[in-house]
Amino acid sequence: MEIISVIPRGYCQGVVRAIGIARKTAADHPGQPVTMLGMIVHNSYVVRACQELGIRFVEDPGKTRLELLDEISEGIVIFTAHGVSDDVRAKAEEKGLTAVDATCPDVLRTHTLVKEHCLKGDLIYIGKRNHPESEGTVSLSSRVHLVTQPDDVSRLPDLENVMVTTQTTLSIHDVQPVIQACLDRFPDAAVMNEICSATRMRQEAVMKLKDIDVLIVVGDPRSNNSCQLKKIAGSCGIREAWLIDSVLGLKEEMIRNKNRIAVTSGSSTPNSITSQVISFLTQYAKTGEFILPEHVDNRLL
Ligand code: SF4
Repeated sequence: MEIISVIPRGYCQGVVRAIGIARKTAADHPGQPVTMLGMIVHNSYVVRACQELGIRFVEDPGKTRLELLDEISEGIVIFTAHGVSDDVRAKAEEKGLTAVDATCPDVLRTHTLVKEHCLKGDLIYIGKRNHPESEGTVSLSSRVHLVTQPDDVSRLPDLENVMVTTQTTLSIHDVQPVIQACLDRFPDAAVMNEICSATRMRQEAVMKLKDIDVLIVVGDPRSNNSCQLKKIAGSCGIREAWLIDSVLGLKEEMIRNKNRIAVTSGSSTPNSITSQVISFLTQYAKTGEFILPEHVDNRLL
């Protein structure tokens, strides 16, 4: 049995930056209420580690960031790596909260692109519904139209001077048919594919794998880029792919009698958690003994 550790994988610069901002904010304001507006990144281990620093989280998948702000009455609010709309920033200010912005620079770049374009035309945004990054971007202007699949494009109204852009963490495979549907309907549209380089490089590394029996993706099921890594495996000939949130998600039937097992992780997965999975698999390959550890090795950075 051979264990292949896929490179690059794990934390991206945007996540490292967001965690650094959260840590520093908690350390610089002892005794003050510090609240994160949503999950800092979509990984429950990262959230837990931040809670241990004294940061409170308000999160409800059924509520928008604007609605979640109602649950914060004082102190410091941290905006997550996914970004927020201008309405959220304005409401935080009205409430007298001190805002700390951990939005990823790649998301901020998309926001700038969207705002500039919407002064002169309509914008089709390819993204996931009910995802905080899409919510933040779509709320920037009434001229932004969210689509998730090719069929959505035919339901759009007539648009002028169209630009097409994307959420940063989509699958480089899945986005193409949606872009094509936009171009079929609006042939003169400008296309700005904003899938970030971290997402792209992690997906391309999986696509380059050869003769793999199983791909293990270490990541939270709510993490869009982790889910996309698993999905991409199916479209590039990898026979089986599993998404687990830590070593404790492994089951022997996933790996028994396999020759080549590759391991990757989403950009919000702590590296210590992925390393623990790789160490366990390496040990299993040597001994054939499947005895899971009692604890997950969860370290923020
Ligand atoms: S996945 Fe991309 S957009 Fe998201 S935080 Fe990382 S670098 Fe930024």
